[in-house]
Amino acid sequence: VSSEASGVAPARVSALRAEAEALYLGTRPKTRAAAGAAAHLFQGVPMHWMVDWSTPVPLVVADATGARLTDVDGHGYDDFCLGDTASLFGHGPAPVAEALIRQAKHGLATMLPSPDAGTVGDLLAARFGLPYWQIATTATDANRFALRAARAATGRPRILIFDGAYHGAVDDTFVGLTANGRPANRPGLLGEPRDLTLLTRVVPFNDLDAVEEALADHTVACVITEPVLTNSAMVLPQPGFHEGLREITRRHGTLLLIDETHTLSSGPGGYSRKFGLSPDMFVVGKAIAGGIPASVWGMTEDVADRLTRARDSQPEGRSGMGTTLSGSPLQLAALRATLEQVATENAYAHMNRLADRMERELTGVIAEARLPWHVARCGARVEVVRARLPLWDGGQAKTAHFPALETAIHLALLVRGVLIAPFHDMMLASPATTDAQVDRLIAATRDVVQRLTA
Ligand code: PMP
Repeated sequence: VSSEASGVAPARVSALRAEAEALYLGTRPKTRAAAGAAAHLFQGVPMHWMVDWSTPVPLVVADATGARLTDVDGHGYDDFCLGDTASLFGHGPAPVAEALIRQAKHGLATMLPSPDAGTVGDLLAARFGLPYWQIATTATDANRFALRAARAATGRPRILIFDGAYHGAVDDTFVGLTANGRPANRPGLLGEPRDLTLLTRVVPFNDLDAVEEALADHTVACVITEPVLTNSAMVLPQPGFHEGLREITRRHGTLLLIDETHTLSSGPGGYSRKFGLSPDMFVVGKAIAGGIPASVWGMTEDVADRLTRARDSQPEGRSGMGTTLSGSPLQLAALRATLEQVATENAYAHMNRLADRMERELTGVIAEARLPWHVARCGARVEVVRARLPLWDGGQAKTAHFPALETAIHLALLVRGVLIAPFHDMMLASPATTDAQVDRLIAATRDVVQRLTA
């Protein structure tokens, strides 16, 4: 999509990009040298997505503390990306850091429970409302295990996802709708010889008629969804969507799996607790252990019973649900510290107050410049969406992306000392974020928008 439809002339976009790129490269000799020195990493980075940011060479972070980053050249940044939610509660929260040091002296990985295990289970049940929990290492894994459990519990082969959703590197979920509305493997997917649509159905978000039709033959074990689509700009549920989804899934005997990995921004119990959703299964990863690789998946009594029966009816063998480092003493210590001391009501009150400011003031900047954009919000998560009206589904969200414009804005913000999430315009407020940082975010955004429009 050309950037014209975003309300910005393409020439302005390339001028902003060129100016920011020259500044970035000109003032970061050590960053440039580090990029050249990583010869034995594939594509020069420890994980290949790192070359997909807006930067001409990756930013190399020497320090991340609270909501601040410092690069190897000594430039400081106000961090509103926060590791794309992994550090939603700030970088290295003190109670987590202390718990890790304490635990390291007593063992990090034993493949056995530590004394924190029972307490962590109690904390999860009290916070998220489901009675039974398992620990995994990434949200990807938690989703994968929960989907397997759903298939085992129901004896059904298929799953249903919403177009434009992202649930991690879970093979079954890499299905989307093409421009003419047909299900297909998602573009860009590497090394996937299978037609994933055989076992994964996909329908537009907010479309209850399509859900009804997709579940009618009772072959679908599970619907997996985020409460709000947060990975294709931000698509909010229409009034009645979640109630309808719950009613239809129950009526067809399909389990409902809610993935709260990003919507944990809503409040201490996630979006589900805040808005009274009642999932059969629940997943949250990323920030749940304060930045330590850990995720959790929970289930109702009924799902737990059916899963137990399914296990008992199988011959001895591997369940396909688990990894060696999952449920480790390290993870349990970090989970306990995060749940007891970091992700508190007080922390969320602060995050929400700052996100209120971000929403209001970014809306003001957009209005001043008369741009056809709006701000969407999910608790501490704030997103600038390049469309005049709220998005309805993943298909619409695709038309609200302008990669050249977005990367120019991201790099222009970066050289002004502000980091936002890559690939779309997402900003998070953490307990460590300050009003002064929000002031700087707004001032930098206003400056960038003026360069693009005035
Ligand atoms: N679920 C959702 C909703 C996500 O946004 C993501 C990652 N962006 C994941 C799951 C996967 O998380 P991870 O990459 O940590 O496995």
